[in-house]
Amino acid sequence: MTNPLLETFELPHFSAIKASDIEPAIDEILACNKEKIAALLKGQSSYSWESLVHPMELMDDYLSRVWSPIGHLNSVMNNDEWREAYSNCLPKLSEYSTEIGQNKDLYLAYLSIKKGNEYANLDTAQKKIIDNSLRDFELSGVALAEDKKQRYMEISQQLSTLTNQFEENIMDATNAWSELVVDESELAGLPASTMGLLEQTAEQKGNEGWLLTLEFPCYMALMTYADNRDLRYKIHRAFVTRASEEGENSDWDNTKTMAEIVGLRDEKAKLLGFASYADLSLATKMAEEPADVLTFLKQLAERSLSMAKQDFATLTEFAVEQGHVGELESWDVAYFSEKLREARYQFSQEQVKPYFPANRVLAGMFSVVEKLYGIKISEETSVDKWHKDVQFFVITDADGSQRGRFYIDLYARPHKRGGAWMDECVTRFKKAEGLQSPVAYLTCNFTPPIGENPSLLTHGEVETLFHEFGHGLHHMLTKVDYLSVSGIHGVEWDAVELPSQFMENWCWQPEVMALISGHYQTGESLPDEMFEKMLAAKNFQSAMQMVRQIEFSIFDFRIHLEYDAAKSTQIYDILEEVRSEVSVVKTPEFNRFPNSFSHIFAGGYAAGYYSYKWAEVLSSDAFSLFEEKGVFDEETGRLFLKNILEKGGSDDALALFTAFRGREPNIDALLKHAGIAA
Ligand SMILES: [Zn+2]
Repeated sequence: MTNPLLETFELPHFSAIKASDIEPAIDEILACNKEKIAALLKGQSSYSWESLVHPMELMDDYLSRVWSPIGHLNSVMNNDEWREAYSNCLPKLSEYSTEIGQNKDLYLAYLSIKKGNEYANLDTAQKKIIDNSLRDFELSGVALAEDKKQRYMEISQQLSTLTNQFEENIMDATNAWSELVVDESELAGLPASTMGLLEQTAEQKGNEGWLLTLEFPCYMALMTYADNRDLRYKIHRAFVTRASEEGENSDWDNTKTMAEIVGLRDEKAKLLGFASYADLSLATKMAEEPADVLTFLKQLAERSLSMAKQDFATLTEFAVEQGHVGELESWDVAYFSEKLREARYQFSQEQVKPYFPANRVLAGMFSVVEKLYGIKISEETSVDKWHKDVQFFVITDADGSQRGRFYIDLYARPHKRGGAWMDECVTRFKKAEGLQSPVAYLTCNFTPPIGENPSLLTHGEVETLFHEFGHGLHHMLTKVDYLSVSGIHGVEWDAVELPSQFMENWCWQPEVMALISGHYQTGESLPDEMFEKMLAAKNFQSAMQMVRQIEFSIFDFRIHLEYDAAKSTQIYDILEEVRSEVSVVKTPEFNRFPNSFSHIFAGGYAAGYYSYKWAEVLSSDAFSLFEEKGVFDEETGRLFLKNILEKGGSDDALALFTAFRGREPNIDALLKHAGIAA
């Protein structure tokens, strides 16, 4: 039997890969790469780009191309067998990357290029790669004594296993909860589209009635529309206690895992000579010092907090007018907010949904970037996919040459990780046999088509789609030929959200509405009058949202900055303190939000969640140039393409931004766009 992961492939053969193929493939690649590295170091007395860096990139590329579909399917088609094979590989991969990072001979070989004559003749991207590599060797503990190196390796492996465990617990807790409702009156207030979704979900499980789950489209609709307060309470409680001791099954409790993760990160940082994990995190980011991050967040909080308090007071007053008795609890906030929005702007999310069928939005979004960047996007149906809902598209340049390709997997379903994200399948890289063009995965969890009706998106979901596509373009439109700084590789983490948040701005332009909207029955564009209302409601509660993001950011940063092993409840203590400073909505006792905060405990955002706001300064400021010149101004579009999207991580984010904007970034555009007075 051949292993489809080890055959040469241009695109992964998703339907042919079996769980039993995973470990043998990874074992073979790791062994083969290790041998090649040893041979590289043995065979030469002096090193050059061609004799060292390029072969190292080839090995990296091979491993990530094979690992990519494995990790991707683990997220979107999860099952026990796959999960086991995937988790078994994690310690091996972690060991491999630590071994490389701590390989002193390899480090010295890179250092000899940096100090040699060739360096001056390398281009900016190549120099950046050498510099980044040397930095990463140091951050991997290349300079540590043997016993400390060993400890570093153990920590890395444990972290990789624990963060995976964290994510699995959330998935299990999410999948385990459901409730069948047979009395329709219990679901009063829910729009027809949600009722249809719940009915379809019940049907798929062989039930009659309406099945409530913790998948996001269901959870959010119930919180926003269910008149039944007890029901809102019930689903809210189930959602915010997932993977905690307050949840229904304590097997999936993440509390201990979180403490271990933060503790191990702290130990790792200290091994490397940093004062804290927050300091280590900043070593690869645009922000320089922890104080810079906290000052930035506090400055934003100061300018938003009084308006956020006002937003909440208004909401409370409104709820009382509507007959609400007692305090406004967190399971009431979305519900009354939607009612207030409807009353104030005569506009509801539900009204606009029929104008945003998923396929129309996709086509319109493609036209937007075709205009901005002079590219073409077309669908290709003949490729192999992992699920029938997945679509595949090709991006071509004006001259017809292929620039990149991507899979889109739009809808929520069981055994698919929640949220929305972009991931790399293949990265742009120039090899001897030719240019390898990039391939991306775009994953969302939107409401699926219900019966005969297409999937209809809320405007918030449209924004999410634009956001992820922004990441996708950063990955796919790159012109960098070297793997390590191509696309989003090598981009400072706090600048990574620039292209994605930047794209969101286009969802709010009247010119764009004509392209992305079209009623699913009549084809009519979103009426101007409705768009005006939507625009008027755009910054509804924006200060409340701002302080919530600031709360998450400060919480994340402080638990990684102030870690103290002696304080056993520190994670929740810090959260409490941060909430008392910047939160305006009271949180119930049972809330265990951190236990499902994957971004920081399982994803790459540890001591880096602030990156969203940091990059929003950049994205808002970048967009303000389009406001000055026109949203479809060709010259500005091409300027953004050339200075940001094409450059990937080949230069410092600040330098790239400044080249585009003609000056350094400032905070004003962000506050202006959020409707928060400066
Ligand atoms: Zn993003």
